Amino acid sequence: MANLKVTLVPQLSDNYVFLLECQQTGEVAVVDCPDAEPMIALLDEKQLTPSKIFNTHHHWDHVGGNEDLISEHEGLAVYAHSSDASRIPGLTTSVDHGASFEVAGMTFGVLHIPGHTTGAVAYTIADCVFTGDTLFAAGCGRLFEGTPEMMYESLNVKLAALPPSTRVYCGHEYTASNLEFALTLEPDNQALLDKQRAVQAIRAQGKPTVPTTLEEEFATNPFMRCDQPAVIQAVRSKLDGEPRPAAVLAAVRAAKDAF
Ligand SMILES: [Zn+2]
Repeated sequence: MANLKVTLVPQLSDNYVFLLECQQTGEVAVVDCPDAEPMIALLDEKQLTPSKIFNTHHHWDHVGGNEDLISEHEGLAVYAHSSDASRIPGLTTSVDHGASFEVAGMTFGVLHIPGHTTGAVAYTIADCVFTGDTLFAAGCGRLFEGTPEMMYESLNVKLAALPPSTRVYCGHEYTASNLEFALTLEPDNQALLDKQRAVQAIRAQGKPTVPTTLEEEFATNPFMRCDQPAVIQAVRSKLDGEPRPAAVLAAVRAAKDAF
């Protein structure tokens, strides 16, 4: 949507906060913020007043800035999944899978994508999706609370149903190390080799590799390629019996945890 401006704001060592501005109405929202102080300074500098925070999940490096942002901007609404109601500071609006709501004339959609945490959500707007720590470029979040089955469905059923051209805004700059791991599973995947070369050039300039697109993830992300013979073969020795996709994902995740 031409009206939506997304600004990436790096925080901490590798987090991304996203500042959303509707260029038609001037409405401003923030997606996840660990540290309020630099965000408040940035908003002041740009003379912007946020009306909403969209939280993807409850981890402190995504919600740590909520309370101070609320103190600074009275009436700031905080959105998160209903199951996380007790874990999101300042929550005002619980949302569930399939919900959609209007912000400044733009429609936001909600996908419940458990796996990294049980209350993880993605927000869709226009051709963008904000995935927090569930889907990363060439990777996925650790399974802190959810099961491999949940993560499989979140990535390969719910997120994968969005148009392939969807731009994926994830919560951390992990792309280079994710690609390094992915290439241990699929060393001959040309899309992966091409992406690694592109990402090295981007990082050499100190620039973000986010957003990616779903289309790129289908071609490079091992957690969205659990049906690919090379990926199955790479973890074959860790599988009992038939290579069920969720079992392949679990084995890939375990290998990444040890990488
Ligand atoms: Zn997290």
